[in-house]
Amino acid sequence: MKNMQDKDNYPIRIYNSLTKTKEIFKPINPPNVGLYVCGPTVYGDPHIGHARAGITFDLVYRYLQHFGYNVRYVRNITDVGHLENELEESGEDKIAKKARIEELEPMEIVQHYTIQYHKGLDALNCKRPNIEPSASGHIIEQINLVKKILKNGFAYEVNGTVYFDLEKYRESNSYGDLSGKVLEDLQSGSRQTEGLDEKRNPHDFALWKKASPEHIMRWESPWSEGFPGWHIECTTMSTKYLGKHFDIHGGGLDLQFPHHEAEIAQCRSAHGTDPANYWIHNNMVTIDGAKMSKSAGNFITLDQLFSGDHEYLERGFSPMVVRFLMLQSHYRSKIDFSNEALDAAEKGYRKLMNALDLLEGLTATSGDEDGTLDDEIIRQCELCYERMSDDFNTAQVLAALFELVSKINAIHNNQLKDDTVSESALNSLKNTFEVFVVDLLGLNAEEKGDDGKTEELVQLLIEIRANARANKDFETSDKIRDDLNEMGITLKDDKSGKTTFEIN
Ligand code: ZN
Repeated sequence: MKNMQDKDNYPIRIYNSLTKTKEIFKPINPPNVGLYVCGPTVYGDPHIGHARAGITFDLVYRYLQHFGYNVRYVRNITDVGHLENELEESGEDKIAKKARIEELEPMEIVQHYTIQYHKGLDALNCKRPNIEPSASGHIIEQINLVKKILKNGFAYEVNGTVYFDLEKYRESNSYGDLSGKVLEDLQSGSRQTEGLDEKRNPHDFALWKKASPEHIMRWESPWSEGFPGWHIECTTMSTKYLGKHFDIHGGGLDLQFPHHEAEIAQCRSAHGTDPANYWIHNNMVTIDGAKMSKSAGNFITLDQLFSGDHEYLERGFSPMVVRFLMLQSHYRSKIDFSNEALDAAEKGYRKLMNALDLLEGLTATSGDEDGTLDDEIIRQCELCYERMSDDFNTAQVLAALFELVSKINAIHNNQLKDDTVSESALNSLKNTFEVFVVDLLGLNAEEKGDDGKTEELVQLLIEIRANARANKDFETSDKIRDDLNEMGITLKDDKSGKTTFEIN
């Protein structure tokens, strides 16, 4: 059997969005790993899309740490510079607009929604990053980076605004490698678009924007009183905390263009290097097959999802059930949320937790490791590692874990027939199951308390039933069995008179 704790036995392969291939992960300075992930723009409650990105990179972080890497995980908070019309870079700042509507200071909006974001992701058991820098806290660094890009000749200033010069950049670089977008094929936006006549090319993006008189969030700069563009913050903060060239850059698929293309262009023109070796993008979430949007009425925040307080939802679902549902899909596949999918995820999650509980009480039935059951258990344990190392394929990991769940139930219920399980296979089973369910997939559970109680209550009812039967009170004993059965809890009496149960 392979040593499962040794990463060399399970080399991690990452699908790199930049090269469109799976590549073996090799850090620049092992055992250190730099991981940068684009964080939220904090102007609204966290929703299912935030959960998906949060959980995806939490897995990457946990798995790298499990194999002994010393990961520095940086995820920014965008609190300035993200405008309403992302592509045209026009309209109000998203935070300033919310502040105006709610009659609050922009930084009150930032504080409030940053806390909400943390609460939501904490509930989903996502580990916090090591550094969580904000754009407004790095204005000087952003100005310095804009200066550098200007000095290198890849930007120009018009009326106090500095634009990135895509024509110039494309003389010596390609643009669009990540998203596959070709600038010539893109619509150049409306003629009315603010600032369009200032730009040399309609796709040039702002590095620094001069603030209009009504714009509240503004800082002094060599060019104007204004604010940084949305893309420059990530290049600034990833450079500051991870260096000019680091290991992994992550984010949602919707950020590939123009945000991540802009980051690559900025980094190459300022530092002469690509920002990251591996680009990881998580796919989107749909609701009953439709894109989530406020106008479609299917926009669900995490609070609403947990409480059930949304007209679309039949009831609330626990954060761990939501996490489980997300993990049932590989991060590069779309996930479709529906009440049915959530119901099914809840059942799956309970089964997994029940097996986790049973695991502790299992004992070996043979001394040596040679049975078929032993082989099957070891194979599924190895598969958990193989599949996780294969581009973090949690869907396939869960499939292996459920193979193990049926083994755990069989051992627990003495349904092994002629097969036996050895001490060493049982140890591998316990170790792998706990490592994956609790440490890596993070499906732990605080909530185990509930499941543990259910088990104790069922055990109590089994004792009352046994007493009733001893007293020939079959009415009571049958009622207990039938009512439990209706709740999905099956009691099984073996020949020796021992009763076991299964929660379906
Ligand atoms: Zn970013």
